[in-house]
Amino acid sequence: MALTHFIAELRGALSAEACVLSDPTKEDFQLALLRWSDVDVKIPGAIVQVANESDAVKLASAHRTPFVLVCGGHSLWSTIGPDGFILDLTKYKSVQVNAAEHQVTVAGGVLMKEFATALASAGECAPVGNGNTIGLIPYCLGGGIGVATGLMGIACDNIRSAKIVLANGQLVVANERQHPELFWAIKGAGYYFGLILEITLATYPLSVFGTPEGQHWIGNYLYPMDRAAEVFKVVESLVATSSSRTAGLVMLIAPPPHHQPMIAVVPHYFGDLEDGPKVFKELAALGPMMQSEKAPHVPNLSDHLDFACGKGGLRRFNLTGLQEFKIENCLQLTEVFQQLLESCPDASSSGYFIEWHCLPPHDMVRNSAFSHQSVHLWLHCLSWCQEQTSLTKVFESEARAIDAMRQGTEPDSYIDLPHGTRTHPIERRFPDRDTLAKLRALKKEFDPEGTFTKELL
Ligand SMILES: Cc1cc2nc3c(=O)[nH]c(=O)nc-3n(C[C@H](O)[C@H](O)[C@H](O)COP(=O)(O)OP(=O)(O)OC[C@H]3O[C@@H](n4cnc5c(N)ncnc54)[C@H](O)[C@@H]3O)c2cc1C
Repeated sequence: MALTHFIAELRGALSAEACVLSDPTKEDFQLALLRWSDVDVKIPGAIVQVANESDAVKLASAHRTPFVLVCGGHSLWSTIGPDGFILDLTKYKSVQVNAAEHQVTVAGGVLMKEFATALASAGECAPVGNGNTIGLIPYCLGGGIGVATGLMGIACDNIRSAKIVLANGQLVVANERQHPELFWAIKGAGYYFGLILEITLATYPLSVFGTPEGQHWIGNYLYPMDRAAEVFKVVESLVATSSSRTAGLVMLIAPPPHHQPMIAVVPHYFGDLEDGPKVFKELAALGPMMQSEKAPHVPNLSDHLDFACGKGGLRRFNLTGLQEFKIENCLQLTEVFQQLLESCPDASSSGYFIEWHCLPPHDMVRNSAFSHQSVHLWLHCLSWCQEQTSLTKVFESEARAIDAMRQGTEPDSYIDLPHGTRTHPIERRFPDRDTLAKLRALKKEFDPEGTFTKELL
């Protein structure tokens, strides 16, 4: 069916609160099109903002018009050209907390901070991650790793149930009892299988963070680049002795106003707030240029990243799993970062971060398609420039950064987080052969024509 005809039919079929935007010259269309990254953004034939479950089911149900789903808009793949439409979930949101059962049901386009705030007001929390404006459901579908992984596990392993619209238009509930195989696939590969309207997640009392109100201690130690070897030596020992009470990031950044490259170490301590500085005393002993600490409440955990989470900008983000913390590789990473800034000052908003956390508690590792529960070290590459002409250089540097951190690792053991890439070999997202074979078989069964991406076909 031609898109214009399809759209005309739609207007009558959806609820009064839904919006069908089809004029790219109008402000409402342009606002709805804004995404986290401007890289490769296409102009769709329409943007349909659904208002409730019934709208979403009607739209995602079997028809031949191509579409993509948008929640928080942080990925590079929730975009489509003029022959298709965007099914925009941002106006359809609900969070139902059941503190007595330690679970929460989230529907539609709920964002990370909205979710954490609703949960905290009921005294609960969940393993949410780095970025207030990231869509909660997509974050959980592709894994969901962060500093709290050692406390509460991987986000996808916390899914208890999901409501999904399949490619044939059927609306099904998947959990341990109903469609258990599909449920397994949703946990780690969810967005290849359908529109996930709703997920129910396990929650935890705020005190899991180590204090009654859920605050925890976060330090920030800044060092000049020429101290890199000493800093990495200390971080190496912190990573090696990391316990479920600790996690952290080493960040190579070039903050304004001078955009001088430097190293920030941001350790987290989940326990008595007084103990944080003691646990990380070796970082202070190095004599940082600046040092600070804070103890945010859970909903404010990612506020410091707001500068990198707004809409618009020439940027890309990915997450690469690492097998070991190797000082030589980290030193090479600092060289790559410095070379990037020297050859392309326009890239000064970029940053390369190494995150370490503890492995998920044994009883929180579930049988799921997610394959990286045993990875506790991640390289985050935030590639970001102002000018289109700098993009090639910035992306080349990102590839070199990843290569630097993979030195000494066999290519067969390379690890990508499922929602970090769709271009690298899929075996890096799902390295276990049986897992990949099972996912491919399920894809053939539930989405043989690739309505929800051609991945796995
Ligand atoms: C700055 C930044 C920091 C990040 N930090 C972390 C981190 O610490 N840990 C981590 O695990 N990840 C992290 N990520 C990755 C992020 O969690 C994923 O990219 C996530 O998928 C983004 O979700 P979104 O809703 O914002 O994006 P969108 O682009 O809206 O959606 C992402 C994908 O999911 C699909 N989709 C959207 N809604 C649905 C749905 N309801 N059902 C099925 N498919 C759907 C979209 O079509 C798209 O393919 C980070 C990303 C960025 C940009």
